[in-house]
Amino acid sequence: MMQDNMMGIPVDALTYEQIVNDVPIYLTNNKKMTAISVNPQIVTEAKKYPEIVSFINQSTHRIPDGIGIVLVSKLTKGPITTRVAGIELMTKFLAYANEYKKSVFFYGAKPEVIADAAKNIQEQYPDLVVAGAIDGYTNLTEEEIIQQINQQQPDFLFVGLGFPRQEQWLARNVDRLKVSIFQDVGGSFDVFSGHVKRSPQFFIDYHLEWLYRSLSNPKRIGRIFQLPVFVWRSLMWKMRK
Ligand code: UDP
Repeated sequence: MMQDNMMGIPVDALTYEQIVNDVPIYLTNNKKMTAISVNPQIVTEAKKYPEIVSFINQSTHRIPDGIGIVLVSKLTKGPITTRVAGIELMTKFLAYANEYKKSVFFYGAKPEVIADAAKNIQEQYPDLVVAGAIDGYTNLTEEEIIQQINQQQPDFLFVGLGFPRQEQWLARNVDRLKVSIFQDVGGSFDVFSGHVKRSPQFFIDYHLEWLYRSLSNPKRIGRIFQLPVFVWRSLMWKMRK
């Protein structure tokens, strides 16, 4: 597998098809797949979280989930040519689970959000089994959460607690979870629930989803500058190498 490196963080050159083709290999061999989003925010802030850096290093699929990553790779003649969006990959995993009647477990988001997301997903993918859903603000202890998931032994576990919580949670717990396919999904449950809309198609087509989301949420406005800063710093980092 070809990979690139963004300021010390590995990113794999992957397509949706390659990742989904790997799923049965992991499922039948009882091996763990960790499909982890690498985006400019994570790369920029990773230094603060050595446990996340080491988790990404050990992950099986580090997906290039950001146009900034693709841009830097292209500008430096690296191997990454297309973005793999986390939410799109989750959709493909769900379609796979539906086709082969696999089970899925959801962890994260607000209680009403995760309930609606689970309901919508079950409606849209009637043949997959929703083995359970726990919201991201639960009073359950980490031990209890692990126990609930392990009782179900789901094929897929989607964790949407936002950065850095979801990566830290996975880094601590992947080894003791009886799950085959793991994905960190950020705010994807919000989209599946219908509580948050994905950006208009125009922004998706022109790779400007990050801009739309930054502009439409005052909390995220500062992120507009993260992309150009990330691209500049990554290019400098590569030049020094
Ligand atoms: N979230 C959660 N528990 C928390 C904090 C956040 O489940 O303690 C969820 C939140 O409800 C949302 C997702 O994590 O569904 C992403 O949150 P946010 O948009 O704040 O994260 P970011 O987009 O910054 O990664």
